[in-house]
Amino acid sequence: MDKERRLIIAGNWKMNKTVAEALDLVNGIKREVASVKEVDIVVCPPFTALSEVSKAILNSNLRLGAQNMNENGYGAFTGEIAAGMLKEFSVRYVILGHSERRQCQKETDQLISKKALAAHGASLKPIVCVGETLAERDGGLTEKVLDTQVRGSLAGLSKAQMEETIIAYEPVWAIGTGKTATAAQAQEAHAFIRRLVGKLFDQNIARRARIQYGGSVKPSNARELMGLPDVDGALVGGASLDDRSFGEIVRNSI
Ligand code: PEP
Repeated sequence: MDKERRLIIAGNWKMNKTVAEALDLVNGIKREVASVKEVDIVVCPPFTALSEVSKAILNSNLRLGAQNMNENGYGAFTGEIAAGMLKEFSVRYVILGHSERRQCQKETDQLISKKALAAHGASLKPIVCVGETLAERDGGLTEKVLDTQVRGSLAGLSKAQMEETIIAYEPVWAIGTGKTATAAQAQEAHAFIRRLVGKLFDQNIARRARIQYGGSVKPSNARELMGLPDVDGALVGGASLDDRSFGEIVRNSI
């Protein structure tokens, strides 16, 4: 596949896996993707497994991501994790504003932009998630919702910071449901987001910006989705919990 932008495929393990299970999974993924050089491959275990997974992927082609972080530095924020703490485990990426956090933890675009700025402050690359619900899509509001979320979540980022930011388009109705956006729906949303990044930053940044698709990505649909002109990788939930499925998604995307 000949794309100007390097694909990035990340596995979001969510609230799954003990440390022992996480090690089994990451060792399996390592074997599955050992020969892949063309794609950035990221695993995002729960916080409790970051330390061991970090050691397990030393000298491999896998990189480490976290699933969330707090927008503040150190201090009195019980139960929270700061960007600096993630750095201790060589975390490179952090998922921000996943729809589950937007829904369950009521995260707002404003909060997500604060987190993105804090992530950049610690040289972590944020993966900023946006996406519409089914009601919003059915109501013809997809572009309006994406416009609000992208503007709000990326607010305050410098051009240089945007260059190091990844956007994940994840239609909420496709997450964990087995329903995937059609190729046309995904391409349309990604092209819309890219145009918006062009307006908010500049055309060169938009051309280089990496926009992942997320929502029931599996081995059988990865090739078609990753082949779309404005799709630059995937954020994978369920299928990233199985080393063979995740490996196949990665290999099918090349
Ligand atoms: C996700 O949680 O980011 C996701 C896309 O999940 P799934 O692949 O299971 O739909």
